[in-house]
Amino acid sequence: MTTGLWTHEAFSGHVTPPGHPEQVARLAYVERALQGGRFASLVRFQAPLAGDEDILRCHPQTYIDRITSSEPASGWNQIDADTHMSRGSVEAARRAVGGAVAAVDAVMTGDVKNAFVAARPPGHHAERETAMGFCLFGTVAIAAKHALDTYGLSRIAVVDFDVHHGNGTQDLLWNEPRAVFFSSHQSPLWPGTGAEDERGTHDTIFNIPLEPDSGGAAMRTAYEGRVFPILRALKPELILISAGFDAHKDDPLAQLRWTTEDFAWLTNRLCDLAGEVCDGRIVSVLEGGYDLDALALSVATHVDILMAKGG
Ligand SMILES: [Zn+2]
Repeated sequence: MTTGLWTHEAFSGHVTPPGHPEQVARLAYVERALQGGRFASLVRFQAPLAGDEDILRCHPQTYIDRITSSEPASGWNQIDADTHMSRGSVEAARRAVGGAVAAVDAVMTGDVKNAFVAARPPGHHAERETAMGFCLFGTVAIAAKHALDTYGLSRIAVVDFDVHHGNGTQDLLWNEPRAVFFSSHQSPLWPGTGAEDERGTHDTIFNIPLEPDSGGAAMRTAYEGRVFPILRALKPELILISAGFDAHKDDPLAQLRWTTEDFAWLTNRLCDLAGEVCDGRIVSVLEGGYDLDALALSVATHVDILMAKGG
């Protein structure tokens, strides 16, 4: 069995203003880090365009139309305090969703053992009718809904280890009894949500706020104590990961101070758990990560482990 990689050159068509941390160069660094050597056996796929029928699993048509019509012919359209659209942003956002949906299909049908989706813009801050935090569509939540509805699953888990709270995924899965959502994140930090008492309609939301400068040890304790036991008891049929690497100690946007080894530990544990409960089925989707070198190294480490565990 193998690890699939979904990406597309159109992700570079989503251009942000100079100095913006969520920049085109992020994927260039990721792509370069996943070339050659041990990555030669990655099975590479072009991320397809998602249709409205996919996005409608989480966003209303009026929102899709508003985002589509907000794309400028040139320059930028700023649609939120820190979210910009360029010509090409809609295609990129649709291919991010399409890549995640295609990765779910390939993992669920057994074409690949697990998958990484190297996409941008990220998606976990996009709420039902609100683009924010560099995000347009709720990529991972849409992929989760697609998996549940298409394959008749009854238990799915989404693990979001991006340093920011996955407020969008939380919003989109708030009423979904078949999906359990875990978000570990720095608190206090933008967007300010993600308290432990935000539990969802069916008590399926688990927020794990972590203090600034708490480091990888606090993360490991939190996951050992509050994530893995629930996952082990729940036995999800598929695990989706919102893989943000901005908890890295070199990241300019946050202060959780994780190391690349911490990301490796977390990836290993999630893969082992997936091996126990769902035959190793993992679909991991890139979210944040804004120090280019730390991002590239962390993604390479993450994907290397997916490959080793999926082999
Ligand atoms: Zn983030």
